[in-house]
Amino acid sequence: MSDRVNVEEIFGQNVFTLAKMRERLPKNVYKEVVSVTEHGGELSKESADVVANAMKEWAVENGATHYTHWFQPLTGITAEKHDSFVGSADKDGRMITSFSGKELIKGEPDASSFPSGGLRATFEARGYTTWDITSPAFLKESGAGVTLCIPTAFCSYTGEALDKKTPLLRSMEAINKQALRIVKLFGNDTATKVNVSVGPEQEYFLVDWDKSMKREDLIFTGRTLFGAQPPKGQEMEDHYFGVIRERVGEYMKDLNEELWKLGVPDKTQHNEVAPGQHELAPIYETANIAVDHNQIIMETMKRVAEHHHMRCLLHEKPFAGVNGSGKHDNWSLCTDDGVNLLDPGDTPNKNIQFLFVLACVLKAVDKHSDLLRQSASDVGNDHRLGANEAPPAIISVFLGEQLEDVVRQLIETGEAKSSKRGGKLKTGVSTLPQFEKDATDRNRTSPFAFTGNKFEFRMVGSSDSMASSNTTLNTIVAEAFCEAADRLEKAKNFDTEVHDIIKEYLTEHQRIIFNGDGYSDAWVKEAKRRGLPNIASTIEAADTLTTKKAIELFEKFGVYTKTELESRKEIIFETYAKTINIEALTMIDMASKQIIPAVMKYAGRLAKDVNEITNAGVDAKPQMDELKEIQDNLSKMKKALDKLKIYEGKASAISDQRELAFFYKDEVRPIMDALRAPADALEMLVDKNDWPFPTYADLLFEG
Ligand code: ADP
Ligand code: MG
Repeated sequence: MSDRVNVEEIFGQNVFTLAKMRERLPKNVYKEVVSVTEHGGELSKESADVVANAMKEWAVENGATHYTHWFQPLTGITAEKHDSFVGSADKDGRMITSFSGKELIKGEPDASSFPSGGLRATFEARGYTTWDITSPAFLKESGAGVTLCIPTAFCSYTGEALDKKTPLLRSMEAINKQALRIVKLFGNDTATKVNVSVGPEQEYFLVDWDKSMKREDLIFTGRTLFGAQPPKGQEMEDHYFGVIRERVGEYMKDLNEELWKLGVPDKTQHNEVAPGQHELAPIYETANIAVDHNQIIMETMKRVAEHHHMRCLLHEKPFAGVNGSGKHDNWSLCTDDGVNLLDPGDTPNKNIQFLFVLACVLKAVDKHSDLLRQSASDVGNDHRLGANEAPPAIISVFLGEQLEDVVRQLIETGEAKSSKRGGKLKTGVSTLPQFEKDATDRNRTSPFAFTGNKFEFRMVGSSDSMASSNTTLNTIVAEAFCEAADRLEKAKNFDTEVHDIIKEYLTEHQRIIFNGDGYSDAWVKEAKRRGLPNIASTIEAADTLTTKKAIELFEKFGVYTKTELESRKEIIFETYAKTINIEALTMIDMASKQIIPAVMKYAGRLAKDVNEITNAGVDAKPQMDELKEIQDNLSKMKKALDKLKIYEGKASAISDQRELAFFYKDEVRPIMDALRAPADALEMLVDKNDWPFPTYADLLFEG
């Protein structure tokens, strides 16, 4: 058994927390830090120097040799450039470490190699990283030693956001401002801030490292591009919440320890539905920190896996035929005086502020369902959304029985007289405790579900940053709050206006509410009848970013400028084309250098057998049949392979990024499927010992 862990002792050990600052900073500087963290503004230059020095001393005491501005460029992952604390030597030759306020606050990475979607030409390579004081600095232990990581935003010389954090912070400010107007109108005069709370549930796969290294597709693309179905998949439903295997348990233990040291409040771990699939969920935090922590979680998952000789796959669809991975984005709004605006209480029908907020959220989600769907799209997620496992590509809201009933009463009569109760849970066993059930059962198929005191946006992909989904969510709800607050502030009779707004919003936007089975074909038809958008792919969703509606929304709340939206759209097309290109090239490589030669060798042996058996005067029909089937599939593979090569050539002649992306989706992907099908059939025909790389069974069940 491995060493025991004291979670109280290690939690936050590697974080420069407010508590550590309180100990190490002069009182006035500490106060300044707290005030800027909570209410914005800027630290004075003198204070920044004091904070930087304290941060450096703490970091060096804990073994750090370098610091880095840690940022989140539009690649969706994080970036860092390390500088050591080495300063100048004093006259006795002793080295004096240094780290100034200026170095803390501002960095200047050469940004020309990060995606900018045309926001910056390569000759104007200047980009700035600026310290995000609201997200604490931390120490990262890795092969490179210990590094002080300072969370930063990343902008161009002209102030455009080149990252995911800046718009998220802007959207948090927008929703704070508008939500505060609402709570004030409802009579709360103690709240000074409305925070966005976010709790992500992160799914992932683990496979054996050595086996994964034998597959080019896992190495280059993070997902399998070939692979026949193993005899057993997830049909027995025996993996979900199953007993955690020893090897995986040891991994989880180390992962937890690393994350707790980094101040990530990770809480829940379990096996997921697919074999080899697991989930980790931390306790929710302020959106910005939750998003940073989710990046840390993904990074740490991969790093710790290597120490356990495993590879952590964060791709949305690493294996065909079993579930893919997502990331549920649990989202709510809480005032700094402790009120969760999405908490209905026991009797939601009497909780007018809650109903008002709910009506606003429904309006926002209905009006901007296209943008919400866009915010959860990435190349890998196209394999999930609408592909009959996790949520469909159609946005709808699940409210549950209790709230749906309240909403119905409000729409029908303008008044909600009652709220359904859960009642007692009856098991029929007298020794089991009876307790009050939740008023509402769960629904697993809804993309946007109300779950008690928060919404759970279930579309986000497992490898994606959570910044985009929360930026969009915050902004669309800020808009609904703003429009409602404008009306309320002008209203002659507050109560009547509140009542009218609730009834009006619920009536106008009820089409977005759907409590049934989101995976069914019937829903796809019904959604179409209701006029709800069903956007099939990432690149189609990209176009929603630059509609008049989207530009007006994001510019009004200062979240994205038109130029920033256009650049993001461009990057989506680029990323899509590049990703499918790499996948296609990997398939070409695996097919021509591994699968086809292996199959040919095997077929040659089989042909010899046929001759020998026939010479022996016996009917070689079984061998002949098998050989024929192999040859058939081999021909199909060759044909698809040749075609794929030709289309790869055609692609390289297309320079418009949007056109290229659609070419990959509509022309290249179907050929990839046509190449995979006969290859997977061949895997079932060829001797296992001759198959050139580990199979699904090897990866999913023997990892
Ligand atoms: P389940 O799998 O049942 O949906 P989990 O416990 O795995 O639930 O995850 C739920 C997530 O929602 C956790 O990260 C939790 O901290 C988070 N959460 C709970 N309450 C809120 C809230 N008010 N706002 C945002 N997130 C919340
Ligand atoms: Mg959940």
